[in-house]
Amino acid sequence: MKKATNVAQVKPNEKEVACDGGGGAMGHPMIYLPFGKKSQVDCYYCGKRFEKVLSK
Ligand SMILES: [Zn+2]
Repeated sequence: MKKATNVAQVKPNEKEVACDGGGGAMGHPMIYLPFGKKSQVDCYYCGKRFEKVLSK
């Protein structure tokens, strides 16, 4: 299991994010991760975390 060390920041008005693992050998099929009511979501393929940024 890989640790979720990668964190991507997204705009607070985003409803979902797309992740493909960065492509290449470490990549995975493009998937969409809906935030729902949460302010963060983890990709279940690569463990990358997407966090909404409330400032800016
Ligand atoms: Zn991913």
